[in-house]
Amino acid sequence: MAALADSYYDLAQICENGHVANSRVRDYPAHDQVHCDKCGSRTITTCPACETEIRGEYYVPGFIGSSDYTAPAFCYKCGEPFPWTTAALRAAEEMADEMDALSDDEKESLKKTLPDLVRETPRARLAETRFKKLMKKAGREGVEGMRGLLTDIVSETVRKTLFGRLIGHWETSVMMRMEIAITQAVGLRRVAADLDRVWVGQLKGGDRTTPEEFLGSMLAAPVLRALAAELALKAVAIKTTGAHKRGHDLLKLFDALDQKTQTAVEQQRKGVVERVVHGSVRSILAKHKTDFEDSRYVGEMPPGSKPTFAYGDDLDVALQDLIAVFKELPSSGTR
Ligand SMILES: [Zn+2]
Ligand SMILES: [Zn+2]
Repeated sequence: MAALADSYYDLAQICENGHVANSRVRDYPAHDQVHCDKCGSRTITTCPACETEIRGEYYVPGFIGSSDYTAPAFCYKCGEPFPWTTAALRAAEEMADEMDALSDDEKESLKKTLPDLVRETPRARLAETRFKKLMKKAGREGVEGMRGLLTDIVSETVRKTLFGRLIGHWETSVMMRMEIAITQAVGLRRVAADLDRVWVGQLKGGDRTTPEEFLGSMLAAPVLRALAAELALKAVAIKTTGAHKRGHDLLKLFDALDQKTQTAVEQQRKGVVERVVHGSVRSILAKHKTDFEDSRYVGEMPPGSKPTFAYGDDLDVALQDLIAVFKELPSSGTR
């Protein structure tokens, strides 16, 4: 009992970025650092707002401290966030702005949830739900980035529910989405080629088909091929960045890939003739970028306009390159 009565909080010395320089200033002043040995910034021992001393390790006589001390997020006396909490929130806000998978409204919404995540207020649960929903969209890179910034300033429970399950969720649902997308792309490309044989064969005076079969295959092939290209591009995007892209525009999807991946796609086709005849993957996708819309609603095309989807030889070549690159990419979203 006497031991408990003699227990006390030591004083902590922490740098402005939240690195604990010394969690037992009174007992071990020799461990003090005027500047942080990890980042070089100034260290403090009191709250900048109210000058209350920052609590260090809790000392119980007879116990050797387990030393799992972490910097507190807020001052226990005045409730103000410590400089490292404010800095982490600012950095998290800036990171939210960099998340390309989110719309501007979603970025703003994400930024608004951040302060509530850190403070354990009644709004924390709501903030958690919103945060999780948005982070599922943001992809693994976004989740990992936010985890790096927020992990030290959110509570233990929030940390577990927020990041532990999110990473698990990402792995199962996004990886599954990627697998389905690439499998679909491969299958649809194959079926589009079969359909081409039906109507092109007829044109060449080969196999006889019914008018319905001729027209149906001619109309369906470009729809399926454009969809296959879209899905292949999305699968490549997930595999390289973890981000799930939206939209049908093939050129936009290609341009959203990182430079290294774009280069790998362009270098996929080995034959010189094929390269010259069809041009770069990017130029093929630019030509066919709106095929998915145009080929589904042929009747809505302006009179006199030339459909780009009529002959899909070149798009099939680009599709082949994309599928080949996907298979070569390292199988994880953690590049
Ligand atoms: Zn530091
Ligand atoms: Zn204070």
